[in-house]
Amino acid sequence: MTLEAISKNFFLYLSNSRVLDKLAKRWGSKFGADKIVGGETFDQAIPLIEQLNNQGLHVTVDHLGEFVNSEAEARKRCQECMATIEKIDQNGLHSELSLKLTSLGMDISYELVMKNMHEIMEKAQAHNVVITIDMEDSTRCQQTLEIYKSLKSQYDNIGTVIQSYLYRSVEDLDDLNDYHPYLRLVKGAYKESGKVAFVEKSMVDDNLKQMIRKNLLNGHYTAVASHDDEMIRFTKQLVKEHNIPNDQFEFQMLYGMRNQTQLDLMKEGYKVRVYLPYGEDWYGYFMRRLAERPANISFALKGIFSK
Ligand SMILES: Cc1cc2nc3c(=O)[nH]c(=O)nc-3n(C[C@H](O)[C@H](O)[C@H](O)COP(=O)(O)OP(=O)(O)OC[C@H]3O[C@@H](n4cnc5c(N)ncnc54)[C@H](O)[C@@H]3O)c2cc1C
Repeated sequence: MTLEAISKNFFLYLSNSRVLDKLAKRWGSKFGADKIVGGETFDQAIPLIEQLNNQGLHVTVDHLGEFVNSEAEARKRCQECMATIEKIDQNGLHSELSLKLTSLGMDISYELVMKNMHEIMEKAQAHNVVITIDMEDSTRCQQTLEIYKSLKSQYDNIGTVIQSYLYRSVEDLDDLNDYHPYLRLVKGAYKESGKVAFVEKSMVDDNLKQMIRKNLLNGHYTAVASHDDEMIRFTKQLVKEHNIPNDQFEFQMLYGMRNQTQLDLMKEGYKVRVYLPYGEDWYGYFMRRLAERPANISFALKGIFSK
């Protein structure tokens, strides 16, 4: 196993630790997490969103949070999402809202997560805010897509995510075709076994290209969410070859990653959206980012030694 694979597995393993998650909340967003997280509350994130919007970048905010295992906590998350939707509208922000179904009770009961999602979707529709359901690990994929389809039949302002590391993903695109989906296409960020996901990075990359091509040629709005120059180059070439208009797709990147590339793409005339997480629950998100890119470790270590 290469050093890169070992460090990836190590950080993905740590990302699932509930003990460290609890401790992390006590530390606050130290260890460099503040470079990739936009504050502990939405109010702290507002000036950052305004700054990004003023630069011409669009945003999707994500209230960090996983490991929700009580109904009261899931209801609280629902209220927070609704308050965020109101504030996006009141402050005139160009921002969507991304959320995770586990934070809204998916692991507790179907009824609970659907009740929460309906309330959120009603609020989002009234305030003209688009909601995106993040994709979590493969054990939640089927239920997430079922919920997406059910909500998409009733609300137009909703998207979800498909991960190219899963074998099933091209079939999922076919299955979603009739729903005219708004899809964010990504490689995938969780620790998955070879039973469900490609192990070879080149296969994950090839599959993402196949998915970008399929979704765009099917005429659906597509968010290409990757920091990989090759995915960006591929998308630019594809849209040029097929005369796909710029308003049928966008590039998405995470806050704090490839800032100059985000601005360069925008200046070239492409729509770029920055995924900006906020909240006290930064731990799992931060660990997955470390797993993806060991270079991210350098600022984390600086954070530790400067405290
Ligand atoms: C907006 C957004 C939303 C996402 N939502 C989800 C989700 O809902 N579910 C999910 O499972 N995953 C999600 N992800 C994470 C995604 O699945 C990948 O884990 C993550 O984006 C890393 O893959 P990559 O395509 O960016 O590049 P990688 O495959 O990690 O890297 C490929 C190459 O890109 C370059 N590169 C990568 N990162 C950087 C960097 N920071 N700076 C400079 N160069 C870099 C390097 O040359 C690297 O070799 C999301 C990602 C984004 C951007």
